[in-house]
Amino acid sequence: MAIRNIRTEGEDVLRMICKPVSEVNDGTRRLIGDMYDTMYATDGVGLAAPQIGVVKRIVVIDDREGHKFALINPKITEKSGTQRSCEGCLSLPGYRGEVDRPKEVTVEALDEYGEPVTLHAKDFLAVICCHELDHLDGILYKDLAVNYERV
Ligand code: ZN
Repeated sequence: MAIRNIRTEGEDVLRMICKPVSEVNDGTRRLIGDMYDTMYATDGVGLAAPQIGVVKRIVVIDDREGHKFALINPKITEKSGTQRSCEGCLSLPGYRGEVDRPKEVTVEALDEYGEPVTLHAKDFLAVICCHELDHLDGILYKDLAVNYERV
């Protein structure tokens, strides 16, 4: 496994609509391994494939509170409530912003073995899911932020 270069704002790949993964195989799992390595090397809590230049619908998440998983072709199927989160992004280094997000979300996806999974996330984990899934549609948190500032 390997640490990949993080793509930063201005690179086209961050604005692309990512393609669904049609078959989950060893190549997918190698990519996920690299995504974990890259996320941990940068102290992130989530990473989406386009952030390392891969236009596929895959994210990895580790909220550092015991929730660690990869999601393939994830979709938010339910959301409720609202919360205001303070966010940063590995692709927007040196900035932060506040975003209004759902308080709770349900996500349906495939895991790294191609098995369907349903995830109920709330609070911080819901924020991470929303932030990472947005990347798969070319959306950056700054697009949604009520304020966005240099730190
Ligand atoms: Zn991000």
